[in-house]
Amino acid sequence: MQPKVNILFIEDEQNILTFVTKLLYGHNYKVTTAITGTEGLQLINSICPDLILLDLGLPDMDGQTIIRQVREWSDCPIIVISARTNEHEKVKALDLGADDYIVKPFSPSELVARVTAHINRYERLISKNGEGIQDKNEVVETGGLRIEKLARRVYVDGKEIILSNKEFDLLLFLASNPNVVFSRDQLFDRIWGVDSFGETSTVTVHINKLREKIEKDMSKPQYIETVWGAGYRFK
Ligand code: CA
Repeated sequence: MQPKVNILFIEDEQNILTFVTKLLYGHNYKVTTAITGTEGLQLINSICPDLILLDLGLPDMDGQTIIRQVREWSDCPIIVISARTNEHEKVKALDLGADDYIVKPFSPSELVARVTAHINRYERLISKNGEGIQDKNEVVETGGLRIEKLARRVYVDGKEIILSNKEFDLLLFLASNPNVVFSRDQLFDRIWGVDSFGETSTVTVHINKLREKIEKDMSKPQYIETVWGAGYRFK
């Protein structure tokens, strides 16, 4: 069977590159490799991968720079594979828009499982978009804000707003449950999953980024309200 899914692996350690490429090829994934950040960014533009595996310690730049740049225009899944184990690094990568974080040395079967989960999720979104389904149930619209669930597009007063995956998930979840207060713990469990790395401050970071993108007046949020001591509520 011809591999149909394209994975880009940006990593400067040749033995890991070779190992992971063979491992994923055995599961019918095609892997393109880059050993520097510059090369990686060029390949992201030219091959439009279905998923990016990313080392943080690259010879020419920090992997975080790549996450930041990719998230300006793409919601392609990014899984960080790094030897950096401290909580701060993980939280920072997730806050920048990485979808997952795997610590080296990793278990091969866990890597394959996570890659497959993220690819399946992304493919479901793409194929749904391709079918062009967009009935009323798939649009949340309120006070100038329009969220298209399947296309994963957000508009404020007709202008499209680019959100990261998690910012979108968070906004959609809150907007789908208007007038309900959710604590940061509840939102973290819901959007990132209970077994995710990170901490509830990640929720605050994402809420702030969302507000910067969708609110007209940050001091008087029109959509996402802070309920002091309790959490957040969509108005
Ligand atoms: Ca490295």
